[in-house]
Amino acid sequence: MIRIGLDIGGTGIQIGAVNEENRIISEVSIPTRTDLSFEEQVDQMTSCIRGMLNGQDPELTMDHVVSIGAGIPGIANSDGVVVNCTNLGWRHTPLRAEFQKRIDKPFFVDNDANVAALAESVAGISAGTSSSIFITLGTGIGSGIVMGGKIWKGFHGIGGELGHMILELDGVPCTCGNRGCVERYCSATALIRMAREQVAAHPDSLILSMTEGDPMKISAKTVFDAKREGDPVAEKIFRRYISCLSQMIGGLVNLLDPEIIVLGGGVSKAGNLLLDAVREEMPRYVLYSEQPMPRVEIASLSSEAGIIGAAMLS
Ligand SMILES: [Zn+2]
Repeated sequence: MIRIGLDIGGTGIQIGAVNEENRIISEVSIPTRTDLSFEEQVDQMTSCIRGMLNGQDPELTMDHVVSIGAGIPGIANSDGVVVNCTNLGWRHTPLRAEFQKRIDKPFFVDNDANVAALAESVAGISAGTSSSIFITLGTGIGSGIVMGGKIWKGFHGIGGELGHMILELDGVPCTCGNRGCVERYCSATALIRMAREQVAAHPDSLILSMTEGDPMKISAKTVFDAKREGDPVAEKIFRRYISCLSQMIGGLVNLLDPEIIVLGGGVSKAGNLLLDAVREEMPRYVLYSEQPMPRVEIASLSSEAGIIGAAMLS
């Protein structure tokens, strides 16, 4: 018995077969072709799946496939219609219906952050827990809530989006049109913006010498590296960032009291430096802080989370 998972991204599509132990046993990738029509894109994906199940491996045939799932950088409803996926230009696109015209198997589609949350809760750091919140701290903020082993998407299928909750009234303008969204304070992009603002006022910061004096070369890693070296400007940026992140996570704990909060994305590569600071700061924002706190951990799956989580969709 195998499940097929598709990790559909803006530049590439990873397709894998996942076995009953939640391991990827075969994997292929194809470029995302937004120049093709939607029907041609589905043709491309389904022929790739057929190519992978070509019968050379007796365990890897279409007869063994119980379901197919896809993670997309967008949102989909429970009918398998992609409501909106900007990168691929899909709007109200019937992905399940088109897929099933070509391969007659149960087909599921969900947001990529929800898929990653599910993957972690099945095969990653939150495996064995019944409630978890997964947050990716990358260019933007992605998030997924798993309750009782199921992704919580809300009544209309648009829930679980932390990135555009407002953290600061009339704060930094956001790409969504509002101001002060979580994404503007807790993403890698936000950390880089904070660093650029600070080095403009403090050009003697180690951050600038680490980037050959070019603020455009600052990454999240530069800030963490400079903080480790004891740079006071980096320390200030780090404290501000941890305060924002901890306020957001504290709010989640007040609302949902999950068993575990999992951090992924580029910023999470800071590892224990990030974890220790959040674990210390977060209880300040939790109402019942004398009670046990949820665990805060770094995601343990890497790029394979997209395929595994998609394959787990049901
Ligand atoms: Zn926003």
